[in-house]
Amino acid sequence: MYDSTNLNVVTISQDPTEKSVILTFDDGPGRFLPQILDVLKQEQVPAVFFWQSRLLYPKRPWKRVLSEGHLIGTHTTKHINLEKLTYDEQYQEVKNSVMAIEKVTGTRVKYFRPPFGRFNNDTIKAAKKLSLTPVIWRVASMDWELKDNPEQILNNIVENLEDGAVILLHELKQTLDVLPRLIDAIREKGYNFKLL
Ligand SMILES: [Zn+2]
Repeated sequence: MYDSTNLNVVTISQDPTEKSVILTFDDGPGRFLPQILDVLKQEQVPAVFFWQSRLLYPKRPWKRVLSEGHLIGTHTTKHINLEKLTYDEQYQEVKNSVMAIEKVTGTRVKYFRPPFGRFNNDTIKAAKKLSLTPVIWRVASMDWELKDNPEQILNNIVENLEDGAVILLHELKQTLDVLPRLIDAIREKGYNFKLL
């Protein structure tokens, strides 16, 4: 679990009154995105996608992401560790990524996930100046390490569910493979899905 006490970042829904969780997918848009969207549509689950703007070619199915009720946030231009940059560099980096996404999608970017979950006070300051809400996570699926053990992705999440928790996933093959069962398992625990 990401144990953040920093009140400037979101790890839990702002309104945790209902029993629901928030699925987030990082590091796209990638080649498994269409199939991930198929599963989400089939299961009627909304999700948040944090994209690296360098991967957002106009031909990626961003229209479908938006029209099917999902959100697109920024994950910087190319997965930069922002902690290593000055304030000005961080501001410019995040701004560039927002502008690139907005240019393609024509839709305002409101959410931002710092790569590696790494940030400092300058990151928060830059996000505020850009009217972005920084979103970290509460439950990490560790899906990027579980190519050979996708079952564990499921366990990592289902055993750590809590009201309003933001769940970290990635646009990966193993994540796609367990996604239908993951959604079922979360529902079986009595949780719904919502957006930020
Ligand atoms: Zn990432």
